[in-house]
Amino acid sequence: MTGEHTCEQFRRLFSLLGTAYDFGTWHWQPETGPDYICVSAVLVQHTSWRNVERALDRLDAAGVCSLAAIGHLAEQELASLIRPAGTQRMKARRLRSLARLASEHNGLRSLLSLPADDLRPLLLATHGIGPETADAILLYAAGHAVFQIDAYTVRIMRRLGLGPENDGYEDWQRWFQQALPADVDAYRRAHALFVLHGKERCRPQPRCDGCCLLEVCTTGQERRGLSRTSRRASIPTRC
Ligand code: SF4
Repeated sequence: MTGEHTCEQFRRLFSLLGTAYDFGTWHWQPETGPDYICVSAVLVQHTSWRNVERALDRLDAAGVCSLAAIGHLAEQELASLIRPAGTQRMKARRLRSLARLASEHNGLRSLLSLPADDLRPLLLATHGIGPETADAILLYAAGHAVFQIDAYTVRIMRRLGLGPENDGYEDWQRWFQQALPADVDAYRRAHALFVLHGKERCRPQPRCDGCCLLEVCTTGQERRGLSRTSRRASIPTRC
């Protein structure tokens, strides 16, 4: 599979997804505040967005829906407020660690103004912040062109028959960033569309009938007996 072929597949893929799903329904919009994004990026670990909203509502009602305010809460009090998001004691510790990092850098906005190459290691060194959460913060809160990888994206791409040789987080991120021009809006939109599609259609047990990607999906066509093309890795060139 040539790089040009992959590039054309990307264009078609995002066109089909963009027609099927409305990015306007995505919870992190360009105007969404950085505190809301950072707090919810931690709360959403291993739970649904509905539960995150319930926890955010409780933080909001208590007037502490910001990292600066969270940094002044006792861990137990914070855990109680965010209970709807689950694993509340663990997430309270993580939020307080993130709040401490922001405080050490003169506040969240100052922290987020750091270059991506400086900010990413700081986030990754913070308790409970892994690559996916760090990149959500980099992409959506700080506005850096860093492609966020998640399980939905990997599952969909593998089923389409596209992706790097290996399945490590950095392998996938490098693969996307080599293929797609560095564009914050495009990266946000692509990530959101993958999640929306992974929840709606391309679930662990995929619902291929009527799927918007059926025409470009190796797995979907195999499941319908339309193609016997085997999946394989590809090395993209930049679109
Ligand atoms: S056709 Fe099936 S496997 Fe392919 S993207 Fe759609 S739901 Fe997933």
